[in-house]
Amino acid sequence: MDDVLICGGGPAGSTAATLLRQYGHSVRLIEKEKFPRFHIGESLLPADLPVFQRLGVELPASQYLRKDGAMFVNERTGEEATYLFADALPEAIPHAYQAERAIFDDLLLKRSQQLGASIHEEEKLVSVDCDAAGVVAVTDKGTYHARYFVDATGQDAFLARKARTVDPLKGLGRAAVFCHFSGLKPEVIAELHESGNIRVLILEDGWVWLIPLADGRLSAGVVRRDVAMNEKVLEETFAASPMITRLTEGATRTHTRVIRNFSFKNTISHGARFCCIGDASCFLDPVFSSGVTLALISAEHMADTLHPALVNGTEKDPDLMIPTRKHMDRGYAAMGGLVRRFYESNLVDHLLFAKDPPEKFRKGLISILAADLWRDDNVFQDMLEKTSRYSL
Ligand SMILES: Cc1cc2nc3c(=O)[nH]c(=O)nc-3n(C[C@H](O)[C@H](O)[C@H](O)COP(=O)(O)OP(=O)(O)OC[C@H]3O[C@@H](n4cnc5c(N)ncnc54)[C@H](O)[C@@H]3O)c2cc1C
Repeated sequence: MDDVLICGGGPAGSTAATLLRQYGHSVRLIEKEKFPRFHIGESLLPADLPVFQRLGVELPASQYLRKDGAMFVNERTGEEATYLFADALPEAIPHAYQAERAIFDDLLLKRSQQLGASIHEEEKLVSVDCDAAGVVAVTDKGTYHARYFVDATGQDAFLARKARTVDPLKGLGRAAVFCHFSGLKPEVIAELHESGNIRVLILEDGWVWLIPLADGRLSAGVVRRDVAMNEKVLEETFAASPMITRLTEGATRTHTRVIRNFSFKNTISHGARFCCIGDASCFLDPVFSSGVTLALISAEHMADTLHPALVNGTEKDPDLMIPTRKHMDRGYAAMGGLVRRFYESNLVDHLLFAKDPPEKFRKGLISILAADLWRDDNVFQDMLEKTSRYSL
């Protein structure tokens, strides 16, 4: 019998596996794909860096591009605003990375394996029963018993879809169409790599991301609240943008993909002997690139909560993960509050393109953009919470 069975080898699952191995627990991780595998979500945030340090992973400069902040552009009005992580509230972590996810996710998974987690790739979870007596998981290759089950299955949200506890977050992005560009001109690569910033272009009915990658490619995608997304939307949107037309002139577009219905919350994310982390618990919307960070932090909090329970034999307590739920709800509320306002187009001007905003608001906004969401001195975050007309 294993101490912990984890399903999903993305950033949430591999982080949980590494930390639980560091604590000395036996860990088995089931992943249906063979790594390295493609995954969308290449822009990371400063709040990841302390987690990387804890995991003992380093991101080599040859594979990861340093990212200093984010640039927001409205080509219709000519407005532009750049936010640098270094300008956040005190003790800011001044940068993050742009990462090709196939390489990044593989790095994190291999780290957990290096520390002794038993990794089963190309094996799919079919069913799992968690109750006070224990965990029994059945895959397409075998049956496993464990003291605790962690659902880190990302958008597949294994437990939530089985229990029908997926609650779509209405009003946020619903579909994305995206691709990579290779063969960018050297002067364009130099321009994009200077700050490594993500560029977010604001559209009438959505937005576009432009993420430069260390190998010279550019990740680009369109997000809208309309699910009718296809390659034509991508082509028309890009053709209508002078900035994208200039940056991608002469480049080759590859791997166009569509993903839909990604913004949801799992209304039952923990119980007797189980917990859901990362996207399997909640995914807000990609606009501020918070998905990987919230996956890492949920895994970290879960592992720190589970460790003493495994030591004391109290892991079957159905309320064990209430502190983790509360911790994550605070983060989701802050980041989600900003995302909600982003989609209220009349508020974008007051927030992102505000002329001379009070310094403490500007710094507070940058701290949220950096996913520094659990501090007590952010008056901008307090204001977001107090004036929020929405709840997740
Ligand atoms: C359009 C779009 C753009 C995004 N852009 C960004 C971005 O720029 N920055 C950012 O931080 N985030 C971004 N994200 C979000 C980010 O990709 C996710 O939040 C992140 O991958 C979550 O990590 P995870 O470990 O929870 O899930 P995942 O990384 O999805 O990992 C889940 C793993 O579980 C495995 N799995 C699923 N079901 C089973 C099963 N039954 N058996 C075995 N294995 C299984 C899958 O194969 C997968 O490897 C974006 C998301 C979307 C939709």
